[in-house]
Amino acid sequence: LTEHESGTDQHTKTCPSCAEQIQAEALVCRFCGYDYKTQGMPGSSSTSTSGLAIASMVLGILWIWWIGSVLAVIFGHVALNQIKQSDGARGGRGMAIAGLVLGYIGVATLILFVLVPLLAL
Ligand SMILES: [Zn+2]
Repeated sequence: LTEHESGTDQHTKTCPSCAEQIQAEALVCRFCGYDYKTQGMPGSSSTSTSGLAIASMVLGILWIWWIGSVLAVIFGHVALNQIKQSDGARGGRGMAIAGLVLGYIGVATLILFVLVPLLAL
């Protein structure tokens, strides 16, 4: 705690985008427009698609002997939680749901076409 010993600059913070000193209560940087709510520049990163949502949908389509289906269900749930917690900063909710649905259909066919015939034997 060697810097600011005088204690006069307690109400400013350094902008992570442009490194200018701005008001500590500021939600948007007055120099560059950096948005503290979405933690990014305006417009560009407000809806970055969740990578897990994309992975979930792709795996749901790929199926790969039900490995993709099971992973699609897991990734879909994780992606939906991630999107919910990001408070609008993350997109891809539709893709995560698509991945979940495809995954559950895959798991359902696994039960219908593999487990049921095995149990019926
Ligand atoms: Zn800035």
